[in-house]
Amino acid sequence: MKKSIKDLKPYVPEEPLDDLKKRLHLDRVVRLSANENPYGTSPKVAEMLQTKLFESNRYPDGGAVELRNAVSDFYGVKSEQLVFGVGLDEIIGLLNRTFLTDGDEVLVSVPTFSEYMINAEVEQAVPVSVPTLDNGHIDFAGMQAAITDKTKMIWICNPNNPTGTYETKADIMAFVKEVPSNVLVIIDEAYLEYVTDESEPSSLVLPSQFDNVIVLKTFSKVYGLANFRVGFGIFPVQLASYMESVRPPYNLNTVSQDAALTGLKDQEFVRETVDKTVGERDKWEEFFKQNGIKFYHSQTNFIFFEIDDADDVANYLLNHGFIVRNGLRDGWLRLTIGEPEDNQRIQQLLLETIK
Ligand SMILES: *Cc1c(COP(=O)(O)O)cnc(C)c1O
Repeated sequence: MKKSIKDLKPYVPEEPLDDLKKRLHLDRVVRLSANENPYGTSPKVAEMLQTKLFESNRYPDGGAVELRNAVSDFYGVKSEQLVFGVGLDEIIGLLNRTFLTDGDEVLVSVPTFSEYMINAEVEQAVPVSVPTLDNGHIDFAGMQAAITDKTKMIWICNPNNPTGTYETKADIMAFVKEVPSNVLVIIDEAYLEYVTDESEPSSLVLPSQFDNVIVLKTFSKVYGLANFRVGFGIFPVQLASYMESVRPPYNLNTVSQDAALTGLKDQEFVRETVDKTVGERDKWEEFFKQNGIKFYHSQTNFIFFEIDDADDVANYLLNHGFIVRNGLRDGWLRLTIGEPEDNQRIQQLLLETIK
């Protein structure tokens, strides 16, 4: 047993929705705690799943060649730069497993996605955290000042989960230039499609320009394919080959590969999802402003806000059929932007709690 694992707490899965409905005597429960796509997935994926036959007895294509070529074309990167995983969760695990050893330091801006820290601890590495600025943005100067001889990895979640805030490409580039070349900078763009403040918001060219920069993407959020577990990283070629030595050979099953491929080809679904989400996001920001509730300007499909008695508010929403995410920062809640009627209903409920 690794020393570091004794102190970790197991991930506690959410109660299955059907059980929850029974327990709370509710007909309908809407999960707005996991940043899933409330508009489902591309109808083309549903159609493919209904019509295609899968050979259960055969191993999948370990190289995910068709998906790899499609992603490489779509993003304009080399196919050897790509590493696919069972969700970004697996890529995050493999990054830590491949590049970290005992005592290495991993720099994170907090609050952020907890998987970065947990995986570092599994490798007996040491997470070092720098709090965000008051406006929820990354304190790049603070991050730079926290780099030591032991720093091996720096995580930039952009836009960040849970603050929802987006850092410009220019700021990221300026930061990357100051980081020693033996330190990996990993930019998690799980929510990048939802950015509207900048017209070309992705840092995806950086892995072709810097030997130490990696960009991560997933099919779980805007593509609405969370159940299929497909994520990938864009790497400098040398780093991709190290990752490929550690990756389990048949990690992605054929159904998942085909679902991601079909989803990628339906960019209209992506655009529609973003348009609807952004429209609702604007309304949420307006609601918070009008009611004097502090929130961070969101560039994602969720919004992070401060509210008195956050535990009670979360419970009140739950008892009315809406699950939101609590516990990411004291006194703050994170809520996935849902369908229009649900958003309106939650806004009513929130007003009832703050009266
Ligand atoms: C949801 C999420 C992921 C994980 O996505 P999967 O591909 O479903 O494993 C990674 N990073 C961030 C910031 C996320 O919010």
